[in-house]
Amino acid sequence: MVKPLKILMADDSATSRLVLQRALERLGHEALVARDGVEAWSSFLLARPSVVISDWVMPGMDGAELCRRIRQDSDGPYTYFVMLTSLEDKEDVLDGMRAGADDYLTKPLDEHELEVRLIAAARVTELHDRLEELKRQLHQEARVDPLTHVGNRLRLREDLEALAGRIERYGHGSSLALFDIDRFKAFNDTAGHLAGDEVLAAVAAELRRQARRGDEVYRYGGEEFVVIFPEQDTAHTRLAAERMRAAIERLAVEHPAGGVVTVSAGVAVMTAAEAGTPEAALKRADDALYRAKEAGRNRVEAAA
Ligand code: GH3
Ligand code: MG
Ligand code: MG
Repeated sequence: MVKPLKILMADDSATSRLVLQRALERLGHEALVARDGVEAWSSFLLARPSVVISDWVMPGMDGAELCRRIRQDSDGPYTYFVMLTSLEDKEDVLDGMRAGADDYLTKPLDEHELEVRLIAAARVTELHDRLEELKRQLHQEARVDPLTHVGNRLRLREDLEALAGRIERYGHGSSLALFDIDRFKAFNDTAGHLAGDEVLAAVAAELRRQARRGDEVYRYGGEEFVVIFPEQDTAHTRLAAERMRAAIERLAVEHPAGGVVTVSAGVAVMTAAEAGTPEAALKRADDALYRAKEAGRNRVEAAA
């Protein structure tokens, strides 16, 4: 049994259409019918078929133009394009393959040949689907920190840029907080790097647990995390960061140098004036974080 394909066919001859439609349906496929290139193109955009079988010579938009348009359209899954020509039009076949067709069929239609072409079509479109899925997975994995499972710096940069665009357009402010684990070098040096890794994962998980809907946690690097609070002002962000700080202290992870593992944080607002440079807010959060460290750690400071 072959996998049923959604196939769009275009032909200006009613007889050819009927012959092809019957053959496709006999083979168990879903057949969409267009009477010329123009109709085929709009039907293609609506239905996103995985295979197009198109007559080459048609009034209005011909097969070559239809094929070019489909190839230039980067939305949706891959479309396997089969051109239909008369036996004597060998030059058309070459032109068609150059225009981006995957294969060709000659008229009058031979049902076995059609079946053969569709086996290849199913194989190729499936391969393209698998590639797309792999690409999607790679895109996703490249943006997640493997140790803590929160977004990494690449995702942060992309999200900050998107947020900056929204701030610029709508003028709404957003805030962020930069967290840094206190005395983490000492923790690593005594408890070991693996235990340190566990603390990183636990801190990230707690930040995430404390984050409200729409807030996003990222690993900025080493033992530093950024939380973005879209549409929130400093006062709210300061409170939220304080809640996160307290929650991490409550995890009560013993620190070998005494007390428990804590974090310090610096909070800053992203302003519309700085929308072009989202790093500016990070810089101010970093300055505030420095003040929190200076003031004795395990506390939250807001940028001026
Ligand atoms: P402060 O309170 O001022 O922040 O002091 P600190 O010791 O936390 O700061 P410092 O920047 O001196 O040390 C950061 C440490 O974080 C040093 C580094 O070994 C550790 N670190 C960075 N990335 C990782 C990681 O992926 N795993 C582990 N276990 N440790 C890491
Ligand atoms: Mg640090
Ligand atoms: Mg630190």
